Parts: sequence; structure tokens; C-alpha cells
Amino acid sequence: MIPETPVGALKNVSPRILSRLHHLGIKTVRDLLLHLPFRYDDFSNIKKIRELRVGELATVYARLRDIKATRVWKRRMNLAEATVEDETGRVRVVWFNQSYLASSLHPGETLALSGKLAKSKKGSYLANPAYERIGKRDLTHTAGLAPVYPETSGLSSRWLRLLVRQALPLSSQMGDFLPTALLKKFKLPPLSLALPKIHFPKNLSEAEIARRRFSFEDIFLIQLRALRDRKKLHERAAPRIPLQLDIVKKFVASLPFPLTDAQRRAAWEIVNDMAKPTPMNRLLEGDVGSGKTVVAALAALNAMKAGYQVAYLAPTEILAFQHLETFKKLLSLFGVSLGLLTASQKRVLAPYGESSKANVATLAKERKIEIVIGTHAVIQDKVHLPNLGLIIVDEQHRFGVAQRAKLQKRQGTSDKRQVPHFLSMTATPIPRTLALTVFGDLDISVLDQLPKGRKPIVTKIVPHEKRMAAYEFIRKEIQSGRQAFVICPRIEIAASDMGQETKGAILSEEVKAVKIEYDRLKKEIFPDLRIGMMHGKLKAKEKERVMQDFKDRKLDVLISTSVVEVGVDVPNATVMLIDGVEKFGLAQIHQFRGRVGRSEHQSYCFLMTSSPLVGETARLKAVVEAKNGFELAEKDLAIRGPGDFFGVRQSGIPPFAYKSFSDMQLIQSARAAAAEIVEKDPLLAAHPELKKRLEEFEAAVHFE
Ligand code: ADP
Ligand code: MG
Repeated sequence: MIPETPVGALKNVSPRILSRLHHLGIKTVRDLLLHLPFRYDDFSNIKKIRELRVGELATVYARLRDIKATRVWKRRMNLAEATVEDETGRVRVVWFNQSYLASSLHPGETLALSGKLAKSKKGSYLANPAYERIGKRDLTHTAGLAPVYPETSGLSSRWLRLLVRQALPLSSQMGDFLPTALLKKFKLPPLSLALPKIHFPKNLSEAEIARRRFSFEDIFLIQLRALRDRKKLHERAAPRIPLQLDIVKKFVASLPFPLTDAQRRAAWEIVNDMAKPTPMNRLLEGDVGSGKTVVAALAALNAMKAGYQVAYLAPTEILAFQHLETFKKLLSLFGVSLGLLTASQKRVLAPYGESSKANVATLAKERKIEIVIGTHAVIQDKVHLPNLGLIIVDEQHRFGVAQRAKLQKRQGTSDKRQVPHFLSMTATPIPRTLALTVFGDLDISVLDQLPKGRKPIVTKIVPHEKRMAAYEFIRKEIQSGRQAFVICPRIEIAASDMGQETKGAILSEEVKAVKIEYDRLKKEIFPDLRIGMMHGKLKAKEKERVMQDFKDRKLDVLISTSVVEVGVDVPNATVMLIDGVEKFGLAQIHQFRGRVGRSEHQSYCFLMTSSPLVGETARLKAVVEAKNGFELAEKDLAIRGPGDFFGVRQSGIPPFAYKSFSDMQLIQSARAAAAEIVEKDPLLAAHPELKKRLEEFEAAVHFE
């Protein structure tokens, strides 16, 4: 057997198991060995039966005295109940819903049992322990650290362990794709040594040594890819867009507020980039409410006055409308022709008059529209902007890197060798380590300052029982002239059901929920107030009307699904009530909160739970305590890893890399190492193994 041997050649791999392995992307023995555990069950605490303590995880070696299947009628549960003994005593063992064990384990056998001692009225017992017959082979499931793998249904870690055990001797034949010099320099174990250590470590520090290598590897590959893309982009040409100093000055002077220093700095970096003959690829990162739109408008105006077209892409129709309105206001002195293009709406706002019938695509093609604002799908498919100089994408993390590349390619300027400048904006606060990794190919400008006079948003956790008090508070705010958002709980589904149809079904469920909530609040709670409703199934026109009514203060309360999550700007709103807050991710909660606190009025955010809180308090407390998104991101990273905040699936970052996001040194080393290779050997000609690994990695990890 060699690493390339199909995994079906291993013992115990039935056709069913094989198809499940394929489902996990495991085709060869090599793939199996590279299917790494993400944590371990620690069974290293070996005890005698007499030493067992309630609640403590321990492993005992004991002889099975008796075992039988029983049924707890009241709770509709099948059990296997056993008694085991060693030289120090006896203990009862209970397996829930595994009554088949009564026929597969036999009295007289010696078992290793790992689990916790629990207490009931009938005395103490080992609850649901992992078990293993003690034979001659190494203990795989119950001794030391048992690896826990990404699983698929019908293929548990228990199975994977057995298969990996068989394959492990082939570790020594696995060629290393990390160059030896690198391994030496960063004191990392070669693949052949790291594999046994990561799968079956003797102790946690051994696992850690191996983990560090695989983390390095992931981050190194991510960096390699990012830096290679960056280099490729830098070899392209972009239109030089000279700074229109007089116009920019006039624009800044026309604003109703002074720019913050951070806004000035970012604007300066952007106009400087655009003046270069290589494409800008910049991320403008600023917490919610930090004023990114003005900076974008300045960049757009500058490009447009230099004779280029601009595309401004928003993640939702609501935001596209809002940006159109904002641009209309901000740029009113400058005679700009604006076009709006979403799936269901077209409109032109031009110095020569407004029209909703005009064909935006045609006008854009004839260069009669200078700034096209829209949602991305439309722009991608239908619009040709012959003189596109700048693409701005709001809330970048909703746009894929691949989509972006496509857009850049398709929307080239009339000179085919050129690509437009690119500016993306995000309010998702990303700690520096993560930014370097996720956005390794971008330059970053940070708005680390809120406009003057903003007061911190008072954030409170409101338990279910206290909801009336929160409603009363809303009423008071409205009496003093303010407005409020109420967000309805999210409808949950299993990630595995995330098909297209399910999404539609969820949307309908959410619409149903928001309607019920709307009726309830309107009839029972706020019969005297003007209440509006917003959800994803409204027609574009209706969405826009509701938003406009809310902005014009024709509505007091806006009840909404999560569609108002990003970007919406209604400065007079001062209360954000998030119902069912435990169903939302922290980043999303932070985004919701960012809908208020956008003026000099004191604002409030209520995190209302839909059921008594269990185990959620740390997360919600983090929201209460964090002063800004960066702080929150870091807290969240500490509480439960970055999956929730950034959406593991979305970003495609492998779980191993995540574990190292607090390890700045590792990330910087990996980046430096990748930079060196990209500089010397961009095609990886001298590193065939690495090239192959990178290709695999790119195929497996979807950078969206
Ligand atoms: P975000 O960064 O979340 O996209 P916006 O661009 O929507 O933020 O700006 C939030 C609000 O702050 C808007 O109402 C905007 O007009 C206002 N604003 C932007 N810059 C400033 C500033 N320098 N001073 C005061 N208000 C500002
Ligand atoms: Mg915004």
C-alpha cells in the first residue's frame, strides 16, 4: 500500500463506509491521513473504581459482570445496564439508547470505560462511557487522547479512528510539501512525524506541537494564495485617476459636518491609490456608524470628475436605495448622473431630470450615467460600463472573492489590459491577525474613530419576563420624538438543510413570524403608535416605501426580520430591540445595534431573550461590555472561536487555521515565508509538492 492507494483497500471499508468517506472528500489513504482531528477526548485520567468521583471524567479498566437491556417506559428510552468490577470495587454502568450493547458485550470481558460518574436515586453509575474491549492492540477509543474528527452521518470518529490506525504506518511515506528549510527555520515537525502526533498524541503538548505545524501550513497556504493573487494584480494596469483637488475640497466643505481624522486619512489613502497606474485593492474597515459612505462618495466623485464611471454595489435592495438617496444629497452640487439598478428597479437621477423608465443599462453603456448603484447580481450580468474606473462594494464580506474577480475582469475599461480600481467596505470588525489572513491580498484602511458627539449605546440584556418594561421604554422614547426598531427572532434550521428551497421556506416562516409579531404589537402593545413592517418578501417598491416612511418619521416603530441588519441609516431611531437575541450571531447583533446611535441622541439596544437563558450569558455579556466591534470580535474569538463571528462556512478558512488567529507571530512568520517564495518563484516551479498541495487546498477550501 502507498499513500495514493484508494481508501477502499483498507480493512473494514464496506461500500457504504466508502461512500461516506467519499462524502468527506476522502478518496485515498493520503486523504484519510490528512483528515485531521479538531479536538481530543481526554481519556488519560486512569482510575480505579474506588477512586471515581462524581462529575469527573476518568477511564477505568474493569471486568464486565453482567449486562442487560432495559426500557424506561416513562421516558421512552432503551438502556443497556451493566455492572463492572476491578480489584477495588464495583460500579453500575448505564448506556442510554444503546441497548444493543447488551448483546454485543459479554460478561467476563475486560473493558476500558471512559466517562463520568453520575448520581441518581438508585446510586451512582458511569453514564454513557466510551468503551473498548481490551485486546492486544493499542487502545484507540478510551486511552489517552482520543481524536475527534469532522464526521458525516453514519461515519463517526470511532470509525475514523480505526481506519486512521490502519493507515498510520504510511505516514512515513508522505512527502512533505513544506520546504525543509522552512521546517527548520520555524522548528516545525515534518509531515511524517506530525501525522502520528496529531492523530494519536501521547499527551496534549505533543498534539500541540503537531497542531502548530498544521496551523502554520494552513495559514502559509492561505498567504501563498493571497500574495500570489496580489502579485498578479500588481502586474495589471489600471487607469490613473488623478486627484481632483478643487472638487474634493469643495465636496468636503459642502458636508454638514467636519470629516473625522480617520475619514480624512482613509480618503487620502484611497485617492492616492487611484492615482497610481496599478489597480487599487483596498478594504475600508470601520465599525458601524463610522461614516464609510461619505468616504466612498468622495472617492466616487473624484473618479467621476476625472472622466471615469463608478459602480457602487450594495448587498441588499434596501441599501441600494439608501445609497442612491445619500449620493443624491451628498453630490447635489456636482451635477452627477446616477443610475439605480436592482433586480426589480431601474431609475436614473441625472442633472437632466429623473426618470424611472429609462434604460439604465443602455445609458450606462453610452456613458450617460456616471455612477451606477445597485445590487451585485444585476451589475454582474447585464450592465456594461465602458469606462469603469472604480468599483466600490459595500459590506464586502457578503461578496465573494471569486465574484469580485469576475466583476473586475468583465468590467474592464475600454482599454482591455486595464482593470478598474477596487474598494470594498466592511463593518465586520476583524482583528488584525485575521485581517492579514482573510484579506491577505488587500490593503487596509481603518476608520477607528466615530464622528464627534456620538454617545455610547446603552445595551441591556432583557430577560423574557421583562419584555413589558422594554415596550414601555420604547413608548417613552417615541413620546420624546424618537423612533425604534424591533427585530423578530430568526427562524432556525439545520445547516445541512440549507438548500435553495429551504431558504425560501425559511423566508416564508420568517415572514409569518414578523406578521404575527406586527399584529400583536399593533393590537396589544402599541395600538396608539404608527407601526411598519419590513421583511424579505416585500416587493422592492414596498421595501423602499416602508424605509422612506420610517426615515420621514411617518412610522414610529419598524418591525423587521434581519433584513435591516446591515447599513441602514436612520439617525432619529434610538432604540433597537432584538427579540430572540440568542438566535443571532454576535456579529449580527453588533450590526443590529449599529442601526442606532447614529446621532447626538442617547441610544439603547435591548437584547431580549425568547426563553430563559442557558449558557448564553457570556456571549451576551460580551455584547453589553464591548465598547466597539473590535473589542467584541476579540471577546468572541476568546469565548468560542471565530466560527460564529465570521462564519466559517462563508470564509472557507479551515478550522485549524482558526485556532491560530490569536498567534500573531505564527501568522507573520507564515506570511513572510510565503512572501519570500512568491517573490522568488511565483509559479512554484521549484516546489512541485507545494504546488500540488496548494491546488488541492484551493479546491477544498472555497474562497466563496
Ligand atoms: P457606516 O460606516 O456604518 O456605513 P454611514 O456611512 O452610514 O456609516 O454613516 C453613519 C452616519 O454618520 C450617517 O448618518 C452619516 O451622515 C453620519 N456621518 C458620517 N460622517 C460623519 C462625520 N464626520 N460627522 C458626523 N456625522 C457623520
Ligand atoms: Mg454603511
